[in-house]
Amino acid sequence: MTAPKPKPWIDAIAPYVPGRSTTDDGRKVAKLSSNENPLGTGDAARAAFAAGATSLDRYPDAGATALRERIAAHYGLDPARVIHGTGSDEVLHLAAGAFAGVGDEVLFVRYGFSVYPIAARRVGATPVEALDKDYATCVDTLLAHVTERTRVVFLANPNNPTGTFLPRGELLRLHASLPSDCLFVVDQAYAEYLDPADDDGAFELAQNASNVLVTRTFSKIFGLAAERIGWGYGPAPVIQAMHKIRAPFNVTTAGQMAAIAALDDTAFVTHSREHNDRWRAWLESEIASLGNAGLRAIPSKANFILVLFEGKVSAEQAYKELMDHGYIVRWLPGQGLPQALRITIGTEAETRGLAAALRQIVGEAN
Ligand SMILES: *Cc1c(COP(=O)(O)O)cnc(C)c1O
Repeated sequence: MTAPKPKPWIDAIAPYVPGRSTTDDGRKVAKLSSNENPLGTGDAARAAFAAGATSLDRYPDAGATALRERIAAHYGLDPARVIHGTGSDEVLHLAAGAFAGVGDEVLFVRYGFSVYPIAARRVGATPVEALDKDYATCVDTLLAHVTERTRVVFLANPNNPTGTFLPRGELLRLHASLPSDCLFVVDQAYAEYLDPADDDGAFELAQNASNVLVTRTFSKIFGLAAERIGWGYGPAPVIQAMHKIRAPFNVTTAGQMAAIAALDDTAFVTHSREHNDRWRAWLESEIASLGNAGLRAIPSKANFILVLFEGKVSAEQAYKELMDHGYIVRWLPGQGLPQALRITIGTEAETRGLAAALRQIVGEAN
């Protein structure tokens, strides 16, 4: 008997691997594997979410009007050009879906966000990876891979899983050299963790150029990962095309309400950024002190650090032993990074505990 056959480009997808929250034997441990906010969700967002329980019988506002207007007011944007998604993951898929297809190429850096190759293959396009420069985005290498078939370029800034940041001058240079019929998607999932002086200029491009889309999420600093709310901003024709393939009621009522409250709770966001600045710097110095054991942290502007293991203890060994100590981090052999662990900045206790465990693990082996 024959059976339904997935399209060959769907067969070619390597499934997304989420960060784990339990060990092999099911123990609950500190989860430092998904770049969530270790301080949780702000009180205002939590209360707004609870208020959403009074209208569970009704469909949500399909246009997420109040949320889009609040986002536009907060960032000084045109609400008609804001598109909401089931997480920014959906927005990334919509971009690929509306602008790439069979025979087209979708370009991004090696060690980029693992959703990009999935979004490309899902629509039958060919993912193309450009080499990095010591784990950071290299504009010249990206540009060298642009062909007449390149339809979408994805750039996460800061990048996941490396934490590296492409400064404004480089980002503008990349955009200026891209063909204007190629959609340039700047994924700013971690933008709220940046020093405001580190504006990469992408919103300005999205406002004025014909081919730039910026994406944001409520999953990271806003502490609403469970609710799946992201958004994008770009030229009206780009946004209109993406709306055509967006699922009609893609963001829940409670989620829309929680996101509005989270956006207004600037004290929680500021507190979260300051916590991250402090403990990321602290963890970076701890990793630096383990340099003799072959550990090296890639300089990060996000809420995680990519740590390379170039000594006696491998990343795989450290990953497993950290789990025994009660810490789950991200080991990324499936993304070509068997030599690295991506570690989310946790609470003070988690970050101190993780560093102590790491020190013990590499100390015992040296
Ligand atoms: C976490 C992350 C996202 C956001 O995903 P959501 O679907 O909004 O939860 C997008 N891009 C990058 C690079 C990320 O790391």
